[in-house]
Amino acid sequence: MEIRLLGTAAAEGIPALFCQCEHCERARKLGGKNIRTRTSAIIDRELKIDFPPDTFMHILIEGMEISTFQHLIITHTHHDHFFPEDIKMRSEIYAHGIEYPLSISGNESVVSTCKKVLNHTLQAFTIQEFKPFQTYKVGKAQVTPLKADHKPDENSYIYFIEKNGKSCLYGHDTGWFPNETFDWLSDKTMDVMILDCTNGLIDSRKNHMNIAAVKQLKETFEKNRNIHQDTRIIATHFSHNIGLTHKDLEALLHPHGIDVAYDGMKIDI
Ligand SMILES: [Zn+2]
Ligand SMILES: [Zn+2]
Ligand SMILES: [Zn+2]
Repeated sequence: MEIRLLGTAAAEGIPALFCQCEHCERARKLGGKNIRTRTSAIIDRELKIDFPPDTFMHILIEGMEISTFQHLIITHTHHDHFFPEDIKMRSEIYAHGIEYPLSISGNESVVSTCKKVLNHTLQAFTIQEFKPFQTYKVGKAQVTPLKADHKPDENSYIYFIEKNGKSCLYGHDTGWFPNETFDWLSDKTMDVMILDCTNGLIDSRKNHMNIAAVKQLKETFEKNRNIHQDTRIIATHFSHNIGLTHKDLEALLHPHGIDVAYDGMKIDI
């Protein structure tokens, strides 16, 4: 399984769109891994997770071939994860040479918004509603949406994705996992976990997690043998409000065996 992280920031991006805070100014100066676009990932170039407003830029950076993904799964409808007006650009007149419908799956809000925004262009898309804790075949992968602690007016999901005997927990956006999600994961093994670390050193693990929660989650899964010594643990979805550079994050997380995501990061498992 090849997982490519296309973006690694929270909703505002880093440096944030209009922000003149000290951290954003520093990120502008330092550049490199301190520049973060809104989060998304692609697995084996066929299964994409989320569609942020930066998708246009991700395709420019990564090359046109990443636009040929066949399946799109959405975690929730916050705009940094779901920008349907640009998904519509895959329909007639806006795009040529489209030979297969793109499958889009997500919760009830994703489905109803897609049906509204992608109106009259359903030949370019197939749309499926996911229910929590049910496993679906998506291309060559098995995908199970698990409940997140996030955006309580809809079923916000994190995803357990299995393919070719390997498994990935795509764990954001979420606060500390709900008990039902821990129960479902209790007999699973994970080869990679990509975890919400929006809050950095800020003392909050509701709706989003922080460094302490990511560390505790790792310890919990270690104790229950859900992860093994080669499991990759990667923190992502960082906010400019935490004021930490990529190097700062590495200094805080590396000693605990946790990697720090950056835009363009490739994970082979
Ligand atoms: Zn987000
Ligand atoms: Zn800022
Ligand atoms: Zn969100």
